[in-house]
Amino acid sequence: AKRNPNEPEFLQAVKEVAETVIPFIEENKKYQNKMLLERMVEAERVIMFRVTWIDDAGNTQVNRGYRIQMNSAIGPYKGGIRFHPSVNLSILKFLAFEQTFKNSLTTLPMGGGKGGADFDPKGKSDNEIMKFCQAFMTELSKHIGGNTDVPAGDIGVGGREVGYMFGQYKRLRNEFTGVLTGKGISFGGSLIRPEATGYGDVYFAQSMLQTKGQNFEGKTVVISGSGNVAQYAAEKATQLGGKVVTLSDSAGYIYDADGIDAEKLAYVMQIKNVDYARISEYTKKYPNAKYVAGKRPWEVKCDIALPCATQNELDGAEAKLLVANGCICVAEGANMPSTPEAVEVFQHAKILFAPGKASNAGGVATSGLEMSQNSLRLSWTSEEVDERLKRIMLDIHTSCVKYGSDGTGYVDYVKGANIAGFVKVADAMLAQGVV
Ligand code: NDP
Repeated sequence: AKRNPNEPEFLQAVKEVAETVIPFIEENKKYQNKMLLERMVEAERVIMFRVTWIDDAGNTQVNRGYRIQMNSAIGPYKGGIRFHPSVNLSILKFLAFEQTFKNSLTTLPMGGGKGGADFDPKGKSDNEIMKFCQAFMTELSKHIGGNTDVPAGDIGVGGREVGYMFGQYKRLRNEFTGVLTGKGISFGGSLIRPEATGYGDVYFAQSMLQTKGQNFEGKTVVISGSGNVAQYAAEKATQLGGKVVTLSDSAGYIYDADGIDAEKLAYVMQIKNVDYARISEYTKKYPNAKYVAGKRPWEVKCDIALPCATQNELDGAEAKLLVANGCICVAEGANMPSTPEAVEVFQHAKILFAPGKASNAGGVATSGLEMSQNSLRLSWTSEEVDERLKRIMLDIHTSCVKYGSDGTGYVDYVKGANIAGFVKVADAMLAQGVV
């Protein structure tokens, strides 16, 4: 804490890992030397830079850009770019730290990283978005590369932004490489990458439910967020027979008791991905649904909850409400959406609870598959990628069960994910000496 003042999110993420990993280290002598954990919590490199650009009105704008290169023990740094006004060093360090464990869990050779800027894409024109992405990449390009650091999307960075950043990288370097993932299909992107995080989250929830002889069929599902992860979590949950009744954004949530089916979801995608508008627009087309301003959807009764918006969006009181209302499964699509108090409530109630680093790893896993395809210079079909994604989510579930079972049938997925993720990175770091 002394070395990282004013970084509450980073300290929160480290504490959560330390609480489960330290007892494991105490039982396993080989991890007790060479300051292993101390090295793991220190980023290999932090890059902070000025991003200047000119808006449509001709005014000069200044933002701050970042790239956290957290850990490269098992592969090139890999992790998303976030554009959101709340972005700061603490948030990106927490995300990069989590990413290291998550990427290890995927079984693919990817280190951990994260980046972004305190740029607010809301209300910006397409031209302004492009100008910003180009200015951001002008500096970032000096620090990344197909074998060094391969960024992807995150909050505020989707296919459009990745495309603009890729174009600028190519212009500066005069080389066509897989330096970013989440690219468009026409220039090296992978099929299923847009769907992967949300789909993977639902596949993981399905594996958890199976351990209790349950599935999505006929279950009521509450989802927060309405961006990339939330949209495809909703799509897959619906395909598996669930009824998704909520979606949200930072201004409020919509509740549709009839379920947000494929047709309604197509409208949500139009609102969010084409019009860049608010989720409240939903009720204009579907007046039977209700819009609840200024609140989060956790008060809605459900069987399964998928938090897919942002960090710390589900607190202890809301967790209690979910449990009291009969929720049996929470699978995090976002990164660290549940506060530590909320996690404690879920674990105390012994309901199925998956931390994001396990349940949302399908996105980065498919990014890893995009890197493989780029290196091979070929493209796999949707079915092939989806099959691999399913297999990876199953493997992650198996790893969590291996390290998280308490012997009575209860699985602590937080402990399981942290230890499974830790072991591979720790072994690689020990083998590579003190670096
Ligand atoms: P998007 O930008 O596509 O969507 C983010 C959604 O979350 C929007 O609906 C947004 O609403 C909402 N949101 C953002 N900030 C807040 C806030 N402070 N309070 C309430 N709602 C908020 O991002 P993604 O869907 O890509 O990412 C969502 C989460 O999933 C993040 O935690 C991200 O780190 C995580 N994740 C994403 C992966 C990916 O592949 N994209 C992979 C793994 C994890 P609004 O429009 O009002 O801001």
